[in-house]
Amino acid sequence: MKSLTTMEELRNNIFTLACVEESVTPFVSCYLNLEKGDGCGIKTLDDRLPALRSTITGEALSHFDAAIQSIKAYLASQLMPDAKGVAIFCRHYSTGRFLLPMQFAAPLPDWIAVYDTPHLFHLMAMKDNYHRYVVLMATRNWVRILEVNLGAATVQTWTRHPGLRERVGREITKEHYESRNRAHTSRFLKEQIELLGDLMKAGKHTHLILAGDPRLTGEIRQALPKSVAAKLIDTIPAASRDAESDVVTATLSAFVDWEEQESQAVAARFVKGIRTQGRAVAGAAACLEALRQRRADTVLLAQGVSARPGWLCSACYAIRITPHAPDSCPACGEKSLRQIDPVAEITRLAGQQECPIEVVEHCDPLMALGGIGCLLRF
Ligand SMILES: [Zn+2]
Repeated sequence: MKSLTTMEELRNNIFTLACVEESVTPFVSCYLNLEKGDGCGIKTLDDRLPALRSTITGEALSHFDAAIQSIKAYLASQLMPDAKGVAIFCRHYSTGRFLLPMQFAAPLPDWIAVYDTPHLFHLMAMKDNYHRYVVLMATRNWVRILEVNLGAATVQTWTRHPGLRERVGREITKEHYESRNRAHTSRFLKEQIELLGDLMKAGKHTHLILAGDPRLTGEIRQALPKSVAAKLIDTIPAASRDAESDVVTATLSAFVDWEEQESQAVAARFVKGIRTQGRAVAGAAACLEALRQRRADTVLLAQGVSARPGWLCSACYAIRITPHAPDSCPACGEKSLRQIDPVAEITRLAGQQECPIEVVEHCDPLMALGGIGCLLRF
C-alpha cells in the first residue's frame, strides 16, 4: 500500500540517491509543492520544461524527455490526497530507468534540476527541519500520544480518562469527590507517562512536545522522568475541542522554531570554529575537500544557498570555484575538468557519509563566507 514517506525511508533513500553514479545521461530531480491542489504539480513542471529542455542536446534530450514522461505519469495517477510535497528522482538510459518518488505531509518548494547526479539539498533540508517527534496531548477527557514523522501524524495510543466520566453520587460529598478525583487523575497521568516513556524508548525517539490543557501539561511536565524530560522541546496550549490536525500543525511550527534555534547553536559553533584554526572551514571548495577526506562533522548550508559553479579535475579531484573553466587543472596540469554544482556535490558526499546537514536560516558570518561551511572532526 502507498503511504507517505517516513523518516526512516527518507534516510535510506538519501543514501541510495547519494550513491547514484554520475553520468552524462541527465538525472532529473523534481521537487514540487502540492499545496495549491489538483494538477498544480504538473502545471509547474510544464512551465519549467522549455527552459530545461533548451539546455540539453543530442541523445541526452531523448533520455530527458522519457524521464519527464515517467514523472508526469506518476504525478497524474499516484499522488495521495494528504501529500503537500512530492520529490521524484528519475533517469532514463538506453537499457532501463531509475525512478524514485517520495510523497510528504510537509511541503516542499517547487524546484527542478537536471544534473549528472541527484540533487539532494531539499531532501536534506526536509530531514533537518521536520525529522520526527512524539506529541502527548492531554485534555480533561482524554490523552493521546502521537508520532509526527516528517509532518505526518499517526496515533500511537488513545485513552479516555475514566475518572472524569463518573457522576457525583449522593453518597459522596463534593469535596470527597474532588480529592478522590485528583488522586484518580494523578494515577491516570502516571500510567500515561509510563506508556509515553515506553513508546519513546521503543521508537528511539529523541524529541517530545506536550500539548493540551496548561494545568495538565504542567502537572505532566513535573512528573516526567529525567530521561524523558531531557527530550521535551516545547509545551503548547490546546483545548479538547481543537481539531487534532490543528494541534499537529501547531506542534510542527514549534518544532521548526526549535530546530532553527538548534541551527543557530551549530552556526555559533561554526563561527567559533572558524576563529580557532582547524575546527571549521568555509566555502564550497574547502567543504568538499573536508568531505572527501572524511573529516566533516556537520555541513552548514544557508537557506537558499546557490554557490557559483565550480570545476572538478577528474585526474586529481582538485576543485576550483570560478565562473570560467581554467585551461587546465591548477593542481596537476591535466585538462580533464568537469563543471560541477558545488551544493549538489556537497549534499551528495554528505549523503554518502551520512554526515548531517544543518540548514541555517540567518547567520551573517556564514553568509559573508559564501553560505557554505563545515564543522570538522577532531
Ligand atoms: Zn588535477
